[in-house]
Amino acid sequence: MRLGIDLDGVVADFNQGWVSRYNRDFDAALSTNDIVEWDAPTGLTHFGDMDQFWEWARTCGEGKSIFRPLLPYPAAIEALTELDRAGHHIVILTTKPDFAVHDTYEWLAEHRMPTTEVHILDDKTEVDCDLYVDDADHNLEALVASHPASVVCRFVRPWNRSHPGSIDVENWEEIGRLIAARSTGSD
Ligand SMILES: [Mg+2]
Repeated sequence: MRLGIDLDGVVADFNQGWVSRYNRDFDAALSTNDIVEWDAPTGLTHFGDMDQFWEWARTCGEGKSIFRPLLPYPAAIEALTELDRAGHHIVILTTKPDFAVHDTYEWLAEHRMPTTEVHILDDKTEVDCDLYVDDADHNLEALVASHPASVVCRFVRPWNRSHPGSIDVENWEEIGRLIAARSTGSD
Protein backbone atom coordinates (compact mmCIF):
# COMPACT_ATOMS: atom_id res chain seq x y z
CA MET A 1 0.00 0.00 0.00
CA ARG A 2 1.02 3.60 -0.55
CA LEU A 3 0.99 5.16 2.92
CA GLY A 4 0.74 8.96 3.03
CA ILE A 5 2.33 10.00 6.32
CA ASP A 6 2.26 13.46 7.86
CA LEU A 7 5.25 14.53 9.98
CA ASP A 8 4.40 17.17 12.57
CA GLY A 9 2.01 15.92 15.22
CA VAL A 10 2.23 12.40 13.81
CA VAL A 11 5.92 11.43 13.54
CA ALA A 12 7.68 14.56 14.84
CA ASP A 13 6.80 16.10 18.20
CA PHE A 14 6.36 19.70 17.08
CA ASN A 15 4.72 20.84 20.30
CA GLN A 16 7.40 19.52 22.65
CA GLY A 17 9.93 21.14 20.33
CA TRP A 18 8.53 24.64 20.30
CA VAL A 19 7.30 24.67 23.91
CA SER A 20 10.68 23.65 25.33
CA ARG A 21 12.48 26.28 23.25
CA TYR A 22 9.90 28.94 24.02
CA ASN A 23 10.36 28.29 27.74
CA ARG A 24 14.14 28.48 27.32
CA ASP A 25 14.15 31.66 25.22
CA PHE A 26 11.47 33.59 27.12
CA ASP A 27 11.79 32.19 30.64
CA ALA A 28 8.26 30.81 30.43
CA ALA A 29 6.66 27.72 31.93
CA LEU A 30 4.34 26.41 29.25
CA SER A 31 3.43 22.73 29.23
CA THR A 32 2.65 20.66 26.17
CA ASN A 33 -0.54 19.73 28.04
CA ASP A 34 -1.69 23.31 27.47
CA ILE A 35 -1.91 22.71 23.72
CA VAL A 36 -5.45 21.78 22.87
CA GLU A 37 -6.05 23.71 19.67
CA TRP A 38 -4.54 24.34 16.27
CA ASP A 39 -2.45 27.53 16.15
CA ALA A 40 -2.11 27.29 19.92
CA PRO A 41 0.90 29.65 20.02
CA THR A 42 -1.29 32.71 19.49
CA GLY A 43 -3.26 32.03 22.67
CA LEU A 44 -0.45 30.71 24.86
CA THR A 45 2.51 32.96 24.11
CA HIS A 46 3.32 36.66 23.98
CA PHE A 47 3.32 36.49 20.18
CA GLY A 48 0.49 38.60 18.82
CA ASP A 49 -0.01 36.43 15.75
CA MET A 50 1.38 33.37 13.99
CA ASP A 51 3.61 35.53 11.78
CA GLN A 52 5.54 36.58 14.89
CA PHE A 53 5.70 32.99 16.07
CA TRP A 54 7.13 31.86 12.73
CA GLU A 55 9.67 34.67 12.72
CA TRP A 56 11.04 33.28 16.01
CA ALA A 57 10.65 29.67 14.82
CA ARG A 58 12.85 30.42 11.81
CA THR A 59 16.02 30.25 13.96
CA CYS A 60 14.98 28.98 17.41
CA GLY A 61 16.30 25.48 16.71
CA GLU A 62 19.81 26.34 17.82
CA GLY A 63 20.25 28.56 14.79
CA LYS A 64 18.22 26.35 12.52
CA SER A 65 14.47 26.30 12.20
CA ILE A 66 12.24 24.80 14.87
CA PHE A 67 11.76 21.72 12.69
CA ARG A 68 15.40 20.61 12.60
CA PRO A 69 15.83 19.51 16.26
CA LEU A 70 12.35 18.03 16.76
CA LEU A 71 12.25 14.63 18.42
CA PRO A 72 10.33 11.77 16.85
CA TYR A 73 7.42 10.47 18.89
CA PRO A 74 8.27 7.17 20.58
CA ALA A 75 7.81 4.15 18.26
CA ALA A 76 6.99 6.22 15.18
CA ILE A 77 10.17 5.66 13.16
CA GLU A 78 10.28 2.02 14.24
CA ALA A 79 6.71 1.47 13.10
CA LEU A 80 7.37 3.06 9.71
CA THR A 81 10.51 0.98 9.29
CA GLU A 82 8.45 -2.15 9.95
CA LEU A 83 5.84 -1.07 7.42
CA ASP A 84 8.56 -0.43 4.85
CA ARG A 85 10.03 -3.87 5.49
CA ALA A 86 6.58 -5.38 5.08
CA GLY A 87 6.55 -4.01 1.52
CA HIS A 88 4.55 -0.84 1.94
CA HIS A 89 5.64 2.40 0.31
CA ILE A 90 6.10 5.29 2.73
CA VAL A 91 5.12 8.65 1.22
CA ILE A 92 5.92 11.71 3.35
CA LEU A 93 3.31 14.47 3.05
CA THR A 94 4.27 17.53 5.07
CA THR A 95 3.49 21.24 5.04
CA LYS A 96 6.43 23.45 5.90
CA PRO A 97 7.42 27.11 5.64
CA ASP A 98 9.91 27.75 2.83
CA PHE A 99 12.70 28.35 5.34
CA ALA A 100 12.32 24.82 6.73
CA VAL A 101 12.57 22.79 3.53
CA HIS A 102 16.22 21.83 3.87
CA ASP A 103 15.88 21.25 7.61
CA THR A 104 13.11 18.81 6.78
CA TYR A 105 15.31 16.79 4.45
CA GLU A 106 18.09 16.83 7.07
CA TRP A 107 15.65 15.63 9.70
CA LEU A 108 14.41 12.77 7.52
CA ALA A 109 17.99 11.73 6.81
CA GLU A 110 19.12 11.96 10.44
CA HIS A 111 16.27 9.77 11.59
CA ARG A 112 16.71 7.32 8.72
CA MET A 113 13.15 7.71 7.54
CA PRO A 114 12.43 4.74 5.27
CA THR A 115 11.16 6.74 2.32
CA THR A 116 12.10 7.60 -1.24
CA GLU A 117 9.12 9.89 -1.78
CA VAL A 118 8.80 13.20 0.03
CA HIS A 119 6.26 15.90 -0.78
CA ILE A 120 6.49 19.28 0.93
CA LEU A 121 3.19 20.87 0.01
CA ASP A 122 0.08 22.62 1.25
CA ASP A 123 -2.58 20.54 -0.48
CA LYS A 124 -2.06 16.90 0.43
CA THR A 125 -4.95 15.77 -1.76
CA GLU A 126 -2.64 16.20 -4.76
CA VAL A 127 -0.85 12.96 -3.88
CA ASP A 128 -2.68 9.67 -4.29
CA CYS A 129 -2.22 7.20 -1.46
CA ASP A 130 -4.13 4.14 -0.28
CA LEU A 131 -4.02 5.30 3.31
CA TYR A 132 -3.27 8.62 4.97
CA VAL A 133 -2.33 9.48 8.54
CA ASP A 134 -2.69 13.12 9.62
CA ASP A 135 -3.49 15.18 12.71
CA ALA A 136 -4.85 18.37 11.12
CA ASP A 137 -8.61 18.77 10.80
CA HIS A 138 -8.35 20.68 7.51
CA ASN A 139 -6.24 17.93 5.94
CA LEU A 140 -8.48 15.15 7.23
CA GLU A 141 -11.59 16.84 5.84
CA ALA A 142 -9.97 17.47 2.46
CA LEU A 143 -8.58 13.95 2.16
CA VAL A 144 -11.89 12.30 3.04
CA ALA A 145 -13.67 14.46 0.46
CA SER A 146 -11.18 13.99 -2.36
CA HIS A 147 -10.08 10.37 -1.87
CA PRO A 148 -13.22 8.43 -0.96
CA ALA A 149 -11.64 5.09 -1.83
CA SER A 150 -8.66 5.66 0.46
CA VAL A 151 -8.42 5.08 4.20
CA VAL A 152 -7.98 8.36 6.09
CA CYS A 153 -6.68 8.02 9.65
CA ARG A 154 -6.96 10.78 12.21
CA PHE A 155 -4.08 10.52 14.65
CA VAL A 156 -6.05 11.43 17.77
CA ARG A 157 -4.62 14.54 19.45
CA PRO A 158 -6.17 17.12 21.77
CA TRP A 159 -6.15 19.66 18.92
CA ASN A 160 -8.20 17.63 16.43
CA ARG A 161 -11.62 16.00 16.24
CA SER A 162 -13.36 13.04 14.64
CA HIS A 163 -14.47 13.36 11.04
CA PRO A 164 -17.13 11.30 9.27
CA GLY A 165 -15.30 9.02 6.87
CA SER A 166 -12.03 8.97 8.76
CA ILE A 167 -10.81 6.43 11.29
CA ASP A 168 -9.50 7.49 14.70
CA VAL A 169 -6.16 5.94 15.63
CA GLU A 170 -4.47 6.42 19.00
CA ASN A 171 -0.95 5.13 18.44
CA TRP A 172 1.45 3.52 15.98
CA GLU A 173 0.66 0.00 17.12
CA GLU A 174 -2.94 0.56 16.14
CA ILE A 175 -1.92 1.98 12.76
CA GLY A 176 0.25 -1.07 12.09
CA ARG A 177 -2.62 -3.42 12.91
CA LEU A 178 -5.04 -1.47 10.74
CA ILE A 179 -2.68 -1.52 7.76
CA ALA A 180 -1.99 -5.23 8.17
CA ALA A 181 -5.73 -5.90 8.22
CA ARG A 182 -6.39 -3.77 5.12
CA SER A 183 -3.43 -5.04 3.18
CA THR A 184 -4.33 -7.61 0.53
CA GLY A 185 -0.87 -9.11 0.40
CA SER A 186 -0.51 -8.08 -3.24
CA ASP A 187 1.16 -4.73 -2.52
MG1 LIG B 1 0.55 17.43 11.22
